[in-house]
Amino acid sequence: MHAYYTDMQRLARAVTLGFLALTACGEAAFGSRGATSASHADATSSKGLSFPTDPDTTPAIEYAAMDSAACEAALATRKISFQSVPAARGVATPVRLTGPLHGVSFHSALPAKARATSPYEIMDCRLVLALDDFAQILTRYDVDEVVHFSAYRPPPKNWPADKPGQRHGAALALDAAVFLKKDGTKLNVEKDFHGAIGAKTCGPRSGPRPATEEAKTLRAIACSAAEAHLFNVELTPDYNAKHKNHFHLEVTPGVKWFLVK
Ligand SMILES: [Zn+2]
Repeated sequence: MHAYYTDMQRLARAVTLGFLALTACGEAAFGSRGATSASHADATSSKGLSFPTDPDTTPAIEYAAMDSAACEAALATRKISFQSVPAARGVATPVRLTGPLHGVSFHSALPAKARATSPYEIMDCRLVLALDDFAQILTRYDVDEVVHFSAYRPPPKNWPADKPGQRHGAALALDAAVFLKKDGTKLNVEKDFHGAIGAKTCGPRSGPRPATEEAKTLRAIACSAAEAHLFNVELTPDYNAKHKNHFHLEVTPGVKWFLVK
């Protein structure tokens, strides 16, 4: 317990100072193996994985299957402002956003100048497509800025240059911590989500409790993204203590399932 609080205090301090802590996510608890049985259509497994009836038509699975050329062509078609990154270990198609998505800017808490070179701002192209869809949802709630802990987190130094990473190590996940509305309202996942570990996140009998305006908006954002199947994995403070202060939003290549917790 002591270690946990120390970790969280360090994270809070790091964010306050504009630096990034790399301990935000402990998403190793769920498997990454694909489920292929069509007989599981629309079902939810005992691990909480859900299986859409027609998974290949979902945005997350469509994007996850794209190669670099197809993905960058999709960014161009969508007129998304980005820069290609020459190389980032573990990342198939590393890019940096150089403008907002549908008017919504996604960035870390680093000072603006530092963001331009920070590895934590690197995203795989496929994650950007999912975030572009997510931004359209955010505009419905007047959100125009998302502050994250990181997208990419470089794998260990001994990670082979040609080995694909996973999750943050592949720059296929974003830890979204704060959503800012145009009127200045701040929706802070840590303070405003009002979840409970193990509680149901979306649908009947789910939170937030208490249901403040901020909490209802954050919940609506999370559940709208889940309903739209933008991310294979969406983890909230309902999942575990390590996610008490952010939404982990991940595109997962090679799977046909979704996990929302
Ligand atoms: Zn994460």
